[in-house]
Amino acid sequence: MYGEKFLSRVIEWRRDIHSHPELSQNEQRTSELVAGVLEGLGLEVTRNVGGFGVVGLLHGKSDGKTVALRADMDALPLNEETGLSYASQTQGVMHACGHDTHVAMMLGAACALSEVREKIQGNVKFIFQPAEELNPTGGAPGMIREGVLENPHVDGIFALHVWPVFETGKIAIRSGECMAASDRIFLTVHGKTAHGSRPDQGHDAIVASAHIITGLQAIVSRSVSPLDSAVVTIGTIHGGYRYNVIPDTVKLEGTVRTLNPEIQSSMPDLITRTAKGMAESLGCSCDVEYVKGYPPLVNDSTLAGIAVDAVRKIHGEDAVIIADEPDLAAEDFAFFARERPAVMAWLGCRPSDVDVKTAPKLHNTRFCPDEGCFVYGIDYLVQSSLNFLLRSSR
Ligand code: MN
Repeated sequence: MYGEKFLSRVIEWRRDIHSHPELSQNEQRTSELVAGVLEGLGLEVTRNVGGFGVVGLLHGKSDGKTVALRADMDALPLNEETGLSYASQTQGVMHACGHDTHVAMMLGAACALSEVREKIQGNVKFIFQPAEELNPTGGAPGMIREGVLENPHVDGIFALHVWPVFETGKIAIRSGECMAASDRIFLTVHGKTAHGSRPDQGHDAIVASAHIITGLQAIVSRSVSPLDSAVVTIGTIHGGYRYNVIPDTVKLEGTVRTLNPEIQSSMPDLITRTAKGMAESLGCSCDVEYVKGYPPLVNDSTLAGIAVDAVRKIHGEDAVIIADEPDLAAEDFAFFARERPAVMAWLGCRPSDVDVKTAPKLHNTRFCPDEGCFVYGIDYLVQSSLNFLLRSSR
């Protein structure tokens, strides 16, 4: 309904941004494009909020609550392999998480909401955020520190993310725990080097690391309730000099995912205890650095309800999926959701003739969201905002 009207411009913006991707904290060109469009619509525009963040403020015909929409702008350090005519023109940088589509759809929503400005009681704030991919820092905290949620005070926030698990024409919404906390761990195992033929004269940091890696999995199975979720993944392991030398140092790095803030806060102690204990039992020691990243994203139930009603109103019952499980990916939208009632919807973007098993996932060099989803995304953003303000003004 709203999306159709601005679709050709949205596709044009999206392809332009897609072919000129910018890494976290370098979103200069993208932010200029965004600011230019918003100014063209007559919005009050603030640049350089928390880096290259841009904020557009739309005043309705009268005072009221303020609803915010949020889109992220940054790309990833990947070499695009989609073969698209508008593929990345920057070697080694790619919009592989669909943030190009988020920006374009939100600009479309800004166009649509500007047109119905005279019917709006309250304000709509458009938050274009940098550095979503920059875990653990993120781009949201910088914008929050610089006051993006004040002047005027934001009462609720809606966002979306393209989601190739679901096909085009579907929007999945979940109330409550939605996405995971993403923390990082850095372990350094210290032993004592020796010749490979005389392990008794050293303390083998590789054998200690093997025990630590296995021991960490027991945290998930033995220390976290089977009714809750956690993931501990060791992603890199570096150590050793030569096939017949017992090494004195091994470095391990990994990620820890949790959905419940209490479990997140228990993880540093559990991991430290396991790693140090395992290392010591083999005559080694282990330094543990635990870096907290994005918090869990918890969707507000009232806003989730508003979003569901909004999508149903325009696209009917079939367009809505009530998501029955969270996802253990992380999103720095969680920082906003900690400050204000918020909801992030998953926008289906997989063509119906592509199998869910073979469809390229987010952060894949062949990721290619279906532009057919834009109409649904724009309508979700516009109608959710209108419904939020309408409900607040009653
Ligand atoms: Mn993303």
